Amino acid sequence: MKALLLIDIQNGFCPGGNLPVAEGDRVVAVANRLIDSGLYDLIVASQDWHPPGHGSFASAHPGKQPFEMGELSGKPQMMWPDHCVQGTRDAEFHPGLHVDDVDYIQQKGQNPAVDSYSAFRDNDQAALTGLADYLRDKGVTELDLCGLATDYCVKFSALDAADMLPDVKLRFIADASRGIAPEGVAAAIAEMRARGIEVINSDTALIS
Ligand SMILES: [Zn+2]
Repeated sequence: MKALLLIDIQNGFCPGGNLPVAEGDRVVAVANRLIDSGLYDLIVASQDWHPPGHGSFASAHPGKQPFEMGELSGKPQMMWPDHCVQGTRDAEFHPGLHVDDVDYIQQKGQNPAVDSYSAFRDNDQAALTGLADYLRDKGVTELDLCGLATDYCVKFSALDAADMLPDVKLRFIADASRGIAPEGVAAAIAEMRARGIEVINSDTALIS
């Protein structure tokens, strides 16, 4: 059972969004080729889904600016611009993404007191989203991951998948992903490789 996990391909992370990733919208066509390939038995998309005033927003911390480090529930936390607020256009999937062919949507980031980069669990690793159980119940043996942003939500999802689904073969699809900072992307790819996650491009994914 082969699955595709599309991470946070939302307006908020694309140019014009509140937390844009450079060329974030460029992943949409590649993701659609993967979705349309017929090679995946199961397609899952994660969606960053914050309540207004979420604790990861700089605006929730007097005196803090976006992209400064701050604190959330006693732990270091990057202060983000307000983004992907529930029910807003910013939180919607990119309009070009073939969402109708997605089998399951995993929302995350609803708890205002903790951030959730990973589609599998909150950053404090306490609360699980249920996605690992869902994939296990479906009998997934291979999981390809891609999306936005490589150095945050994609990386943490991939590393959690390696932890929580140790028997699943994992691949990161680089050309269907974009990151926030080049050095962060390089470090994320090295970390994923070190955990046994294969790094490929979509042309490889589309033939096997
Ligand atoms: Zn977020």
